[in-house]
Amino acid sequence: MAHENCRHLLGALSDYVDGEAEAAICAEIERHLAGCDNCRVVVDTLKKTVYLYHDVATETPDLPAEVRQRLYQRLNLDELLGN
Ligand SMILES: [Zn+2]
Repeated sequence: MAHENCRHLLGALSDYVDGEAEAAICAEIERHLAGCDNCRVVVDTLKKTVYLYHDVATETPDLPAEVRQRLYQRLNLDELLGN
């Protein structure tokens, strides 16, 4: 099941997009992205959200960390994966 792999990687995707994931995990994610359109969509969406967040954070330095958490949750990653 391809989706088993997707679920396994989902938790690491936000770290990956932030550039905070370990090298081994980055390699695993990139290998998976090469063959998985679903996860490529998730990463693209995450990247856009992160850039959006960075813009907001620049203008409002006091923005609490939980706001980003909420942004990620709003992405409904499970739905993007078609479950
Ligand atoms: Zn996938």
